[in-house]
Amino acid sequence: MSRQIVSLLAIATVAVTLTPTAASAAPTPKAPVQAAAVAQAKAKAVDCAQLKCIALTFDDGPGKYAGTLLDTLKKYNAKATFFLEGQYVKSRPAFVKRMAKEGHELGNHSYSHPNFTTIEPDAVKNEIQKTQDAVKKAAGVEPKLLRPPYGMLDVQTSEVAAEFGMPMILWTAGSRDWATKNSAEIKKQTLAVAKRDGIILMHDWVKQTVDVMPSLVKLLQSRGYTLVKVSDVIKSQNLQPGDAFPVPEGWEN
Ligand SMILES: [Zn+2]
Repeated sequence: MSRQIVSLLAIATVAVTLTPTAASAAPTPKAPVQAAAVAQAKAKAVDCAQLKCIALTFDDGPGKYAGTLLDTLKKYNAKATFFLEGQYVKSRPAFVKRMAKEGHELGNHSYSHPNFTTIEPDAVKNEIQKTQDAVKKAAGVEPKLLRPPYGMLDVQTSEVAAEFGMPMILWTAGSRDWATKNSAEIKKQTLAVAKRDGIILMHDWVKQTVDVMPSLVKLLQSRGYTLVKVSDVIKSQNLQPGDAFPVPEGWEN
């Protein structure tokens, strides 16, 4: 089989839907104890067939501003997914521990961010394994999702991902935060590409992203979105190890 190289840039432009949806009114609990129980049950079982879910994903971290981002997510009871780079897991383990403790999802984004389609399979394995080990050491859990650097993948990448039992998670749209580094632009772009079950690419090393998060999270929630982990939005996809999602153009799982 000839090697398929796929860039996420090839994915067709995502349709823009900006239909504001009022958040559905929650039933009024009779007692505080009951309210706590309801909140806890909700936190445990997120059902994206019922909820208007969206998954914000933060790559290349933990970045310098991860602590501030975690504070914001906690304040608004929002969950996110962090595709971590092993070298920064090693240098900033406390953030990784906190991410896991506060219910966020941890994904593997390589150790040093090489393009997996240009290196040997053993080097890809090494990049993934070192990151698995670093996350395990920092947070006591191992990532179950892989996001190849630059969204670049090929058959070889898929085979290695399969060995690790992980599907490859790309994104439905990007915030373009790394390019604009402008809070207003990041907010505008993210709202323009937000859609139900969307997977949005962002970066916690971009200060302007972290700065705009309180306002962005509030707006998404006011439009009816529940901010969830990637695992929640892909649950219905029944992805197998080595599968890619969203399926890039020219790729077959
Ligand atoms: Zn990256």
